[in-house]
Amino acid sequence: MSWEAFLALGTLDNKNSKEDFSMTVLALKLSAYANGVSKLHSDVSRDMWKGLYPGIPEDEIPIDDVVNGVHSKTWMSPHLYNLFLRYGGPSMINDLADFSIWNTVKKIPDDELWAMREQNRRIMIEYMRKKLKQQLKSKGLHAAEYGDINKVLNPKTFTIGFARRFATYKRGDLIFRDLERLKKIFCNEDYKVQMIIAGKAHPADQAGKDIIKRIIEISNLPEFRGKIVFIENYDLDIASYLVQGVDVWLNNPLRPLEACGTSGMKAAINGGLNLSVLDGWWDEAYNPDVGWAIGERFTYDDREKQDDIESDIIYGVLEKDVLPLFYTRDSDDVPLEWVKMMKQAIIELGTGFNSHRMLRDYVEQYYVPAEKSFSELQQNNFAAARELTEWGKKIVDHWEKVKITKVTSEGDAFINKGHSFHIEATIKLGDIQPENILVECYYGHLDNQEKFSKTKTIRMEKVGDDKDKAIFRASIPCDKGGRYGYTVRVLPGHPQLAINTLPGLIKWYQ
Ligand SMILES: *Cc1c(COP(=O)(O)O)cnc(C)c1O
Repeated sequence: MSWEAFLALGTLDNKNSKEDFSMTVLALKLSAYANGVSKLHSDVSRDMWKGLYPGIPEDEIPIDDVVNGVHSKTWMSPHLYNLFLRYGGPSMINDLADFSIWNTVKKIPDDELWAMREQNRRIMIEYMRKKLKQQLKSKGLHAAEYGDINKVLNPKTFTIGFARRFATYKRGDLIFRDLERLKKIFCNEDYKVQMIIAGKAHPADQAGKDIIKRIIEISNLPEFRGKIVFIENYDLDIASYLVQGVDVWLNNPLRPLEACGTSGMKAAINGGLNLSVLDGWWDEAYNPDVGWAIGERFTYDDREKQDDIESDIIYGVLEKDVLPLFYTRDSDDVPLEWVKMMKQAIIELGTGFNSHRMLRDYVEQYYVPAEKSFSELQQNNFAAARELTEWGKKIVDHWEKVKITKVTSEGDAFINKGHSFHIEATIKLGDIQPENILVECYYGHLDNQEKFSKTKTIRMEKVGDDKDKAIFRASIPCDKGGRYGYTVRVLPGHPQLAINTLPGLIKWYQ
């Protein structure tokens, strides 16, 4: 293979010698399947890489989604795990792919689930105090200079967790945007609040390091001292205490830059509730029964304005919704409505966002079909693979000559519900055989702007020849009365092809 041919695999435009080689383009061109790690991420990816698929409608660009999940056994606290065993029976853990086990949470009495939460918060706080001591010591400071470490953080107080790499798009200092407002929240004696922040920045990311510096300064202000704590060198150990102990997990990236995010899932399976921007996984996971949303599915042109609006929402939701719910207790000091949300979050988010579900999706959508395809292609010393490669070359070489010359329809302009109409297309194929193409009718109900409102595709079958042309036909079922719009397209077709929407290989009737 020539160096030029190889480099061309990593660029959108082979003729543009200035274009940088892109690993993503290389991967998309050489892979049978591609996916994003959340629904929103795959939407964003289809938009980002549409240049690679000219002529293919954006929603058909072959980048699907498999949303990430977290490994429950790793991230769930042993105390909650023991409650699962007690109320679900020991046999339940033998079938981890049976997601109905998450319903076991319903059987756990509210006060026991709450006691687990209070216990995990206490354990987390003891751990964080220990970390804080080490942190001070490593800087040559005596713990005493910080005041009494054992008075830092309160095991009974509502606790927000925030931890991540301090990449700037994650907006690590958004909650500190209006310090006066935040002070008011932190100084309200009726609704006590504290916050644990952990993280690190990439050594080369000066902006990220500056954010951390500012947070540490703020945490030393008298109003926040002992209530806002920054823990350095975020790692798996710190993460595990944090996601098991916090009441609310805060996540406020700039939408739609977070591909998925997994920390909020780790918190959720421990009964922590998410307060997050509708980005990554939260865009598809959020509903008001399991947590809170920061803002809408909307990006402002003005970044400053967006930060103002969204920080304001964080303060408002904390004051009006989160804190009152947390501090409304029954006679046994259990916040029943809060516990109800915890249970719903554990059931819904545990079921949807665990790694068993994720792996099963990958296996069913990609690994099994890929393995099946490989086992067919490798037989007889890769005879079918060679044949497919030759076929592909021929399609690419002769694709130029493929042309849809005529499309006609039979049926009324207005179609009654349950009726159908026929479409016939005449296609000039040049040197390509009819069995090597996939002909589809692309159709939909016409809206009042004469546009297809929702499109569907139906395969057209070859019904005859007309000299050097082939005739294809389909009957279009109409499940809705009205006027229909349609067109016809040709794609490459081969039984061994994983996807038909290949870069550059699509022809539409014009
Ligand atoms: C889960 C985890 C991450 C990833 O967090 P996201 O929410 O996916 O950004 C990073 N670091 C540690 C230590 C973690 O446990």
